[in-house]
Amino acid sequence: MKICIFWHRRDLRIHDNAGLAAALASGLPVVPLFIYDSDILEHLPDKADARLTFIYDEVEKLAQQTEAAGGTFLARYGKPADILAALVEEFEVATVHTNEDYEPYARQRDTAVGELLRQHHVDFFLYKDQVIFAKDDIMTKSGTVPKVFGAYHKAFLAKLTDDLLLPFGSADAFIQENLARLPAEKAGPRPTLASMGFARKEQFVPTADLPAEEVVRSYHTTRNTPALQNGTTRLSVQLRFGTLSVRQTMRQAKALNPKLLAEIIWRDFFMMLLWHYPNTATEAYDPKMRHIPYRNNEDEFRAWCEGRTGYPLVDAGMRELNQTGYLPNRVRMTVAGFLVKHLFIDWRWGERYFADKLLDYELANNIGNWQWMAGTGAVSAPWFRVYSPESQLAQVDPELKYVKRWVPEVGTSKYPAPIVEHKFGRERAVEAIRAARVM
Ligand SMILES: Cc1cc2nc3c(=O)[nH]c(=O)nc-3n(C[C@H](O)[C@H](O)[C@H](O)COP(=O)(O)OP(=O)(O)OC[C@H]3O[C@@H](n4cnc5c(N)ncnc54)[C@H](O)[C@@H]3O)c2cc1C
Repeated sequence: MKICIFWHRRDLRIHDNAGLAAALASGLPVVPLFIYDSDILEHLPDKADARLTFIYDEVEKLAQQTEAAGGTFLARYGKPADILAALVEEFEVATVHTNEDYEPYARQRDTAVGELLRQHHVDFFLYKDQVIFAKDDIMTKSGTVPKVFGAYHKAFLAKLTDDLLLPFGSADAFIQENLARLPAEKAGPRPTLASMGFARKEQFVPTADLPAEEVVRSYHTTRNTPALQNGTTRLSVQLRFGTLSVRQTMRQAKALNPKLLAEIIWRDFFMMLLWHYPNTATEAYDPKMRHIPYRNNEDEFRAWCEGRTGYPLVDAGMRELNQTGYLPNRVRMTVAGFLVKHLFIDWRWGERYFADKLLDYELANNIGNWQWMAGTGAVSAPWFRVYSPESQLAQVDPELKYVKRWVPEVGTSKYPAPIVEHKFGRERAVEAIRAARVM
């Protein structure tokens, strides 16, 4: 029996899934597949990882949904190219469908997989699913890559017709007639966390429903108040792993709150930039910012990681991040700005720390935002702008409600003095960057 494989990656859902819809309409019985990529898992810092636990639970749900619909779900652990090579040997695979991924590693992986499948005369199809506009879809009038968010946002809205937000019909087509049922011994057992060498780690993730209407309607007034539990949508984990589709979230935001829609558009924007400039995953976009003599003091870095800088908003943020894997955007900006300017530590150190800790860790968004804060990116805050963490605190948490939740000892003798004085830190960073830029 000839089959079509649908390879799930960061789209762990059946509904509104572009690539899955195309696979189910291909006329061949579909076998959904998930590969636990050993190249990625080997680099996880801990053997109990909340993100892997979340992925595992979602994959198991997909497997159950597939079986309930009368099909077979495959899950494997290993290197994607090796797994696919084995599957095309074992089954009569005619096509493999999947959704595009714009990260540098994923692009290399997909090029290698495409080549391998071609050698086996298997067609490989990729679909745009995790963003509305990708790659060159939006360019400036002169044909260059947009680097001003305001202009990109305007062009995005001008192009955003309602049909682009319609759901793909994958859920309706997910029926026995379109799925393949493989003999159980051929499907093999699915990996478990233990079989992959991991333990469970549970951290709170909001459910994969759209945020409540009142949260969305008031978003622009609540998003910068970190003490509020529902001040922002908490969509980021679901968007990261594709348990919600970006079309669903944009439909809701478009109908209810343009500010929220603009924030979700930032996500497309950063993915587009990373696709054009994959080198920015590891170096400053701006060549003038590639030789900054960061101090990189390890003790100070550790104090930042552990929330012991003596700046209450920074410390509260880092402790929230360490305990929950989450941090509101406004506080992400404060802690990031403090690391790269006041402590004058390389933004890549902070970017890596966030990558280890954030449940919603997403390369394009993390790189884009860190480079923004460091003043090194394709789109950036001016490199000489240094926000005072104390003024930030006065703006976003004047009654210290958020701070006291995470740093109860603030205001007592147990709380440390500031690790660096604001004005001194600002001048040190600005002068050093100014000198390095002209060299
Ligand atoms: C230094 C730094 C690092 C960051 N790293 C990540 C990351 O690894 N993964 C990640 O998803 N976001 C990252 N962000 C962006 C943003 O902080 C989070 O998306 C947001 O806080 C998630 O919470 P929420 O879903 O409640 O956001 P909301 O404010 O409710 O926004 C809704 C959605 O819009 C998108 N969005 C909002 N703000 C941004 C932004 N500044 N850039 C890009 N997309 C945005 C996200 O998809 C988010 O889920 C980072 C921001 C900073 C300043």
